[in-house]
Amino acid sequence: MPRYCGQELPGYLKMGKMGWMLSVDWTGRVVLVTGGSRGIGRAISEYLASPGLAVAVNYHSQDAEARVTQELVRAKGAECEVFSADVSRACEASALIDAVVERWGRLDVLVNNAGITRDALLMRTSDEQWADVLATNLNGVFFCTRAAVRPMIKARFGRVVNISSIAGLAGNAGQANYSAAKAGVIGFSKAVARELASRNITVNVVAPGLVETDITSKMNQSAYDTIVQSIPLRRVGRPAEVAHAVKFLAESDYITGQTLVVDGGLVME
Ligand code: NAP
Repeated sequence: MPRYCGQELPGYLKMGKMGWMLSVDWTGRVVLVTGGSRGIGRAISEYLASPGLAVAVNYHSQDAEARVTQELVRAKGAECEVFSADVSRACEASALIDAVVERWGRLDVLVNNAGITRDALLMRTSDEQWADVLATNLNGVFFCTRAAVRPMIKARFGRVVNISSIAGLAGNAGQANYSAAKAGVIGFSKAVARELASRNITVNVVAPGLVETDITSKMNQSAYDTIVQSIPLRRVGRPAEVAHAVKFLAESDYITGQTLVVDGGLVME
């Protein structure tokens, strides 16, 4: 193992012409992406895929879409299976993790991406709209992470990347339920990052801005245009641009409890 200032460095740090370089070898690793059948989750599944790695793609109901992701991942040389589970239900989330560990014997990376919107102004938000969004977007993250850290703790290695939103940082009118859930994901991730750091498990967050997916295609055109005008980079994001940030955090060993914003500069803190 290479040494730097007397400290042992992980094996993936190699001496190159320009000094120490990152060279991540993920052969044999197993990644689970929740909500991987469409949109950002599909891009994450595809972007993380590489020969020798296995990707478990979770989805809720759209089996045909999940199969499309599976083909894209396999085309990148990775193993891939699809797993239907409703992450808002504790028993299904825990059965999902068990099924992945049973299939490959391990789980190295969990990407909590599954999410829904049920937008309404506060006074018109029904109990059901509130509960559904909290159940999938926040409880789902809790249920999957709680189950996933068991094999990670045993292996003394784990990477959790949770997909929040800039709505969880700045709030968004008409999305009190969604903003509350996404802010909850950030607080949850910081707490768990502190709790699990000693076990070599990192927990980080990616907070996208507006990204071209089925979620944004449901937006009203004038709200969409107004937001695009206020984005410093003057365009919405692409799913692969969010996936790039997820990959960076999943491959990072010395970053935990952080939120990486991918929004074209819309929210600057
Ligand atoms: P999307 O295209 O609507 O896809 C949602 C995915 O989540 C689908 O794979 C869906 O599965 C899955 N899903 C929904 N409910 C589920 C449940 N209960 N259990 C398991 N899977 C479930 O969404 P997206 O735009 O890619 O968003 C992905 C994530 O990014 C979400 O967390 C979202 O809040 C976040 N985000 C998106 C944007 C944006 O502008 N798009 C911005 C910020 C944050 P099925 O296909 O089976 O329905």
